Amino acid sequence: MEVIITPEEMQGWSRQQHRTGLTVGLVPTMGCLHEGHLSLIDTAATRCDVVVVSLFVNPTQFGPNEDFAKYPRTVEEDLARCRERGVAAVFLPQAAVMYAGDASVSVVEEGLSGRWCGASRPGHFNGVCTVVAKLFNIALPDVAVFGQKDYQQAAIIKRMVRDLNFPLEVVVAPIIRDDDGLAKSSRNGYLSVAEREMGLGLSRALGLARAAVATGESDAGEVVRRMRQHLTEAGLRVDYVGIADVETLEPVSVLAAGQVALVAAYAGKTRLIDNTIL
Ligand code: AMP
Repeated sequence: MEVIITPEEMQGWSRQQHRTGLTVGLVPTMGCLHEGHLSLIDTAATRCDVVVVSLFVNPTQFGPNEDFAKYPRTVEEDLARCRERGVAAVFLPQAAVMYAGDASVSVVEEGLSGRWCGASRPGHFNGVCTVVAKLFNIALPDVAVFGQKDYQQAAIIKRMVRDLNFPLEVVVAPIIRDDDGLAKSSRNGYLSVAEREMGLGLSRALGLARAAVATGESDAGEVVRRMRQHLTEAGLRVDYVGIADVETLEPVSVLAAGQVALVAAYAGKTRLIDNTIL
């Protein structure tokens, strides 16, 4: 497995794969790899000849009061996991090679970024779009795999690829969960035992929405109210709860199958997100 630290070498490596007729799959991550990330690697491997994983804790997608400094960094373990999983190359850049000191061009998405995580984390999706656009230009993938765990992010990346004509396919892979339903996340390591218990409230709240669809309820506002109550009773501080159209991410008033239920809530100081397609 190659470990590549500069954009130029990464581009060169990828061009070489293409010259020999191989397709390249990219899995962008911030490291601290868990089963969710590994499933994206497997998905990439089923669709492409060689898989590149990027490990980069991107400073520009963190707000000033967020957890950039203490975000878990486990590079040696991550490299071992990638190697075991058959990854061909890991792109492991330093922030200084990713961003010129006077960088002045960025990607701004203005349609899907306004609500949900975008409302709570101003500037977050500009940081995400910009770094992902850069990673696409650096790794030159034929396919890029993202997790449904970050539903809004995946929708925004698909929009960016469409609107800026990136010559690649975006694949969204399902959410991997612990046995009790908690969605795997690098941030779960922040949770105390009691907070982890609270965290189960997110997937349970989503279960309420699925049950409501199954029993033919139609008042989305009422279902959102019940989900919010469930989160609060679990001891979580709600950031947002919503049921939205899967394409536009606009909230719906009439509940129906095929919509997406989205939740974000704090367990102590840790912000957790989850979602489900109804
Ligand atoms: P991150 O390292 O948190 O930036 O995540 C990198 C990629 O892994 C993103 O596309 C995430 O949506 C995806 N991901 C994170 N957690 C999960 C999970 N539990 N299941 C599936 N994909 C995930």
